[in-house]
Formats: sequence, C-alpha cells, structure tokens
Amino acid sequence: MYNKNDILDLKIEDTGIDGEGIAKIDGYVFFVKDAVCGDEIKAKVMKAGKSYGYAKLLEIVKPSKDRVEPNCPVANKCGGCQLLNMSYEAQLSFKEEKVRNNIERIGKVKDFIFKPIIGMDSEKNLRYRNKTQFPVGLDKDGKIVTGFFARRTHSVIKIDDCMASPSVNASILKTVRDFMEENKIKPYDEKAHKGLVRHILIRNGFASGEINVCLVINGDKFPNSDELVKGLKDAISSSDDSTKWELTGLVLNTNKEKTNVIMGKDCKTLWGKSYIRDKIGDLSFNISPLSFYQVNPAQTIKMYEKALEYANLKGDEKVWDLYCGIGTISLFLAKKAGKVFGVEIVPEAIEDAKENAKQNGIDNVEFIAGAAEDVIPDYYKRTGEKPDVIVVDPPRKGCDTKLLDTIIKSGCKRLVYVSCDSATLARDINYLSKNGFKLEELTPFDNFPGSAHVECVCYMTNTRL
Ligand code: SAH
Repeated sequence: MYNKNDILDLKIEDTGIDGEGIAKIDGYVFFVKDAVCGDEIKAKVMKAGKSYGYAKLLEIVKPSKDRVEPNCPVANKCGGCQLLNMSYEAQLSFKEEKVRNNIERIGKVKDFIFKPIIGMDSEKNLRYRNKTQFPVGLDKDGKIVTGFFARRTHSVIKIDDCMASPSVNASILKTVRDFMEENKIKPYDEKAHKGLVRHILIRNGFASGEINVCLVINGDKFPNSDELVKGLKDAISSSDDSTKWELTGLVLNTNKEKTNVIMGKDCKTLWGKSYIRDKIGDLSFNISPLSFYQVNPAQTIKMYEKALEYANLKGDEKVWDLYCGIGTISLFLAKKAGKVFGVEIVPEAIEDAKENAKQNGIDNVEFIAGAAEDVIPDYYKRTGEKPDVIVVDPPRKGCDTKLLDTIIKSGCKRLVYVSCDSATLARDINYLSKNGFKLEELTPFDNFPGSAHVECVCYMTNTRL
C-alpha cells in the first residue's frame, strides 16, 4: 500500500512508548521519530510493512501546541533523550498515560489510587544527572570525540557538553580527549576490538561536590595517569560551573570483552578514592564505580520519601529490601523499622552498603550479596522469617518469578514496589494480584526528564491475611 520514499502528509495523533509520534491513515500506522502528538507534518516513508511503517520527519507544516524548541543542540541526533521536542507538561502527561496504560492493559488492574506524576521543579529540568557514561570514538577526520551513541546505533555523536549532566563534565571530557591526543592513546574500536579507551564514566556527588572519573578501558594499564590527574584538577577548578566540584578519585575499569555492557568487573584506583561520598537527606553514602546510585538526586529524595510513606512503618517491623544497591532505601527504612535485611547482586555495592550502615551509625541492618531470586527463597526456607514489609526495586526486567513466589509465600503484609519500567511492573502486579495481593496506590516519578523513561513507586497489600 505504501512504498519506501513516498512523501506523505501526516497528522500525529498519539505517542509511542519511546516517545515517537504516531500517525494513522485508515488504520495503517506510521511511527515518526521526533514528531510530537498534534504536529501536522510532511514525512518520507522509510520502511513500510503490512499494517505499520516508519517515516522520517521532513517538515513541520503546523506544529503541535506541545512542541517546543529543544534545549539541547543534538536533541534529534543523540539517542540519550527522546522527548526534547515536547513541552515539560506534555512529557509528564505522556509518562503518566504510559504508566496508566501499562498497569491497566498488562497489569489488568483498574481499581487503585493513581496519583499524579511527580515531576522536576521546572527550573532544574536540565543538568539533573549525577552519573554519565560517555563513549569515546573517532570522527571522520580521525579526531577523538566523546559523546553519546546515536539512536539504535553504536556511532558516537560528538557532544562536548551534555545538557543532562553538570557543565563541569564538559571540561573533564575535553581534558581526557586532549590527553589522549597528546599521549597517542587510541579510543576503542568496537568492530576491530582494538584501541584502549571505551567509556568515560563521571560521577558527580551533587550534595558533596565530589567527582570520580572512571576510565573504562580495553586493557589493564593507562599511561601517565599522574599527568591526567593534574590536568583534570586544573580543568575542574577553572570550570565556570557554580558548584564547588572537586576531583576525589580517578579509577580504571578493565573491560576487554566484546560486549555492549559498559563496565567490566575489575576496578583499580589510579589516584585518590575509589568511590565518591554523597548525601541523600540526612544520610551519607559511599558510592563505588560498579555500584548503582539513583541518577537524579532532586527526585531521589521525593521517591524515597514516597517509598517510606508506602512502607508505613511503626518501629518494630522486619523489612526486606531487595535489589538494595548501596543500601540507600535500606538505611532510610532502618531508621523506622525493627530490622532490615538487604539483598543485592553486585558485591561491591554490598560492601558499600555495609560501610554506609557503619558510617551512619545504623546497626539494625544486614546485607547479603547475591541474586534476590536465589538468596530469598533459600533464606526464607532456612529461617522461616516472616517479613512485615518487603521493598523491591529491581532493574528494568522486573522481579524473577522465583522471588515473587517467595514473597507470596512469606505472608508479608505489604509490598512496596519501586520500578524503572512500568511494563514489567505491570506484569509483576498482574502475577501478584492473582496470588492475593492488591495494588492500592501508585505514584509515577519523572526521574529522567527529556527521556521516555518513567519511575514508579507503588504499594500492594496482602488480602490473604
Ligand atoms: N534500591 C537501590 C538500587 C536499585 S537499582 C537504590 O535505590 O539505589 C536495582 C539494583 O538491583 C542494582 O543495584 C542491581 O545491581 C541490582 N540487581 C540486579 N539484578 C539483581 C538480582 N537478580 N538480585 C539482586 N539484585 C539485583
């Protein structure tokens, strides 16, 4: 019906899960990247299947009322953020609807309290990230570039200053690029599996001002690192970023695998500390390069407060915090509970968690490294411990059924589910709903403004008790 290169007039009527515009002609669906719901556009057909196809935005004939000028120079090239053509209000309603849809369609539950999405305080909509991983590559003239991968590809788009991360990082990246040029250090070439530097991971402690730079390399050694440290310190102190940033560590991470996974398993501290220290509310945390840490500090605190509210602790409860990372949620819970048991798969994160408990003077916590779906069924079988409240905060793939089965068996009264993927959250809610749990309330959070990702915090109660 449609052919490649056809030019069409389209009216964008909906938004797909990744933020792309959706147009329909007599039931046939076109997906158009960077088109905003409400736009009237001219588009070129790139691919046409039986019932749907992809078209490229050529011209905006009449812009949607929700269309804005993106506040990023590489908005439509870089694969990092997908919604920069949308006003912030439109981004929030898109995310709210995405969550509602998933919970109703996949989760098959309708009877629950759906709270409005909690967005960023508008003026802080930019430069919100405390962790950024920049791939390193070559441009067509053979010059070293840092930036991000273009959408669905592995070619590096040159981005000197990512608008989602603190501006001091631009000075850090320039220093590393110049250092590599001067020292003839090659970026990693994925195809040839040759070259040294793969990624530059920068962690910025928003509360502490500490910066850790971690070079992910296809090797074990990095030359002249003392000189690089000096260069980084100078660059950071002369950066015009108003935050008082300070380099506190340079770390080498070895990743020699042919893989899309960014980080390897081994870290070596070249200078300073291996971790940054940062604060959330009144608690301080050590964060190592391999450990997970919520990336949007302005939203993290709001999200944790909601998780705590949903946990509804009175003071003597036994709580399991599964997928606990460096023990952030665990320690907030521990201040209000009898005892908290935290489980996390990354051993370095568990080391951080133990240290974090100590540093904050919290001793009613226990942390174990391992996969939650292995540790918990085993722990439950061995101890018969009946938790009052369980908190889970899994990665995008959601919870393993083995874990959900133990949660169901454990007879806990309440489950607080923190999720970064509402589709897998909905799948798990569906499973739990069939097994005695009821979704009571859900609040979405916008932790990733400009991107199509949305975080959710919800709680379920056990109706079998
Ligand atoms: N609650 C923490 C971490 C959430 S991110 C926080 O708010 O900071 C999800 C965490 O789950 C990551 O730390 C990841 O390493 C961990 N993880 C991934 N798969 C896991 C598994 N099967 N069992 C336990 N932890 C896992």
